[in-house]
Amino acid sequence: MAHHRHNNSHYKLRVAIVGGGIGGLSFAVALRKLCGSHVKIDLYEAAHAFTEVGAGIGVWPRVWHTMEALDLARDLSAIIGDSGDAGEDVEFRQSDYTAKGGSESDVPSCQWTQVAGVRTFHRAEFQAVLSAHLPLEADSTYSAHFRKRLSFYDVLQSHPEAIALNFADGTCATCDLLVGCDGIKSAVRGTLYQSQPTMAEPVWSGCVAYRSLIPREALAKVNPEHPCLFRLMLACGQNRHFVAFPVSHGKMVNVVAMVSTPEEEGIKFQGEWTRESSKEEVLEAYAGWEPLVRQVISCIDKTAVWAINVVPKLPTYVGERVALLGDAAHAMTPHQGSGAGQAIEDGFILASLLADHRTTRDTLPRVLQVYDSIRRPFSQDIERCSRECGWLYEYVLSPADVGISVGPTGDSPADELARRSNAAQQLLLWASETSLMNDKDKALQALDAALAT
Ligand SMILES: Cc1cc2nc3c(=O)[nH]c(=O)nc-3n(C[C@H](O)[C@H](O)[C@H](O)COP(=O)(O)OP(=O)(O)OC[C@H]3O[C@@H](n4cnc5c(N)ncnc54)[C@H](O)[C@@H]3O)c2cc1C
Repeated sequence: MAHHRHNNSHYKLRVAIVGGGIGGLSFAVALRKLCGSHVKIDLYEAAHAFTEVGAGIGVWPRVWHTMEALDLARDLSAIIGDSGDAGEDVEFRQSDYTAKGGSESDVPSCQWTQVAGVRTFHRAEFQAVLSAHLPLEADSTYSAHFRKRLSFYDVLQSHPEAIALNFADGTCATCDLLVGCDGIKSAVRGTLYQSQPTMAEPVWSGCVAYRSLIPREALAKVNPEHPCLFRLMLACGQNRHFVAFPVSHGKMVNVVAMVSTPEEEGIKFQGEWTRESSKEEVLEAYAGWEPLVRQVISCIDKTAVWAINVVPKLPTYVGERVALLGDAAHAMTPHQGSGAGQAIEDGFILASLLADHRTTRDTLPRVLQVYDSIRRPFSQDIERCSRECGWLYEYVLSPADVGISVGPTGDSPADELARRSNAAQQLLLWASETSLMNDKDKALQALDAALAT
């Protein structure tokens, strides 16, 4: 078995990042920018290159502040542009009203103003900006290794570098800190939780998502006034919801069409998680829905369907010298568009803690406990809010079920929709009422306390 050895003397820590998705890459950028040359970064990615599915992604202001702090904001601004993108208005509709016999002209709808400063991106463009901030110079403190699929890791008791990484190709590497950014099927989580397999195994959320990007012109030809050419449209109905919004300077419209079987939430998903699909399959799933939804579906050229699986609520994100980040720690439903943002937040907080001068190989276990104490409760609460939002959109949970009954008291479908809209907005208050920079300060204060004892 090949064994890569490196000279450690220059570095206070050698960090292995397993997984180069949005979580792993943004953590690598944060480490490089906040820790400079004190930390050696080796990023191991299973694929032959950094890849992302061609679909849109939205990020909340909390996450954007991270981008500003890491000097990414200018380059990212260049790929959103001011005009055409989703803006701040949401068009909220009960679009299965027609499937239940209601008239097209009476479809209940309301508008709300989203948290100011939400930004939407094309995923591949977003990832390209992150990669561009990770130059691979010969003397760089950062190295990327492709076609390196981690199988499992070992904790080395009597070795100066505490963790041995074992890859599927039979090679091995070592590090002081292993950060598992390897997504929902995380091999790092699998090893950390090998004695509790129920924690390691993802479960099905009960939803599948059809995803597609359609050219603006195609939709404009069908309906030049279509709301999702200008803003986010959230179309609700029984066991289904449909989200569409402009991305890439308004040149494309990102489409996510959810189809749910709520009674199967929590079981192990049977079959392939992703498969090719077709416009016809989506049209069938949305039979009878109002024209605004079916017009968008009619423009789909290619689509694939994803089973939305989630990670069980973990009791910890860390071991002594191992941390989970992003979907590896908290893969969640996409109903609040927060999974990638939460991954980026994890990376920013962890990198901020590692950058502190008191973080050393010796103090690392306590530093990781601080990371866990700040990030786990927050991200798991977002996971709950996201799940509840989805079930509100799909008439599976009522506003009373989620403990938020505000708005009109009448019985009309429009009143019901308004109550659901209010509850969904309340579940999103975290996005406007909390600050990641405050969380960073809290983390550093918690570090003071942890290292004082
Ligand atoms: C329909 C849908 C819409 C979404 N919309 C949004 C949104 O608007 N906003 C938002 O914030 N989030 C959104 N999300 C969630 C977001 O996509 C994920 O949370 C995010 O991509 C997770 O990033 P990650 O880097 O943690 O994991 P991943 O993106 O899964 O990356 C994991 C990486 O690790 C690699 N890898 C896996 N196993 C190994 C191994 N054993 N060894 C080495 N490498 C490995 C993989 O190849 C991959 O590159 C959405 C999700 C879905 C399904």
